[in-house]
Amino acid sequence: MKKHRHTLSYLLTPDYVFPTFRDVTPSFLSELGIRGLVIDIDNTLAPYEVAEPDQNILDWFADLEAHGIKAALISNNHPPRVELFNRTLGLPAYPDSGKPGGKAILDAMRVMGVTPEETAGLGDQLLTDTLAVHRLDMISIIVPPIKDKTTLFFRFKRLLEKPFMRRYRKKQEKKAHA
Ligand SMILES: [Mg+2]
Repeated sequence: MKKHRHTLSYLLTPDYVFPTFRDVTPSFLSELGIRGLVIDIDNTLAPYEVAEPDQNILDWFADLEAHGIKAALISNNHPPRVELFNRTLGLPAYPDSGKPGGKAILDAMRVMGVTPEETAGLGDQLLTDTLAVHRLDMISIIVPPIKDKTTLFFRFKRLLEKPFMRRYRKKQEKKAHA
């Protein structure tokens, strides 16, 4: 992917938005030249309280693998949560990842043997997931949080995300009419 000016609107506006992680298919990724995916866990793959992946999640990862797309889990949640979730998946996994910092993502790409140009980030939060990968000039794919928390803090974060989601939709409309 080309280098971008790191304006706030670039850093926080996702490149693609899908209804759920299952809509992010190997054929879509391959068309973009993506060979690696760094993936958030909480509210992207499963709600906080779901400790282990269900069949839907396992099938999706199997599909990625079958198409030669490498995957890693990058979570700001703590090791017990991430390790239990990853027990059946056995992926490179980075708890306490420090997103929007990029260290865990860079480590994961090294382990997967992929470059930033051929790797995308998948998550549910612009302020951590999109920001982390756009700082590295990677593609950001966002899904709406599976189960949004309704605390004041989370509502505040959603409010901050609003203008950037609006910007994403405007860009999509432009593309559609181009
Ligand atoms: Mg999340």
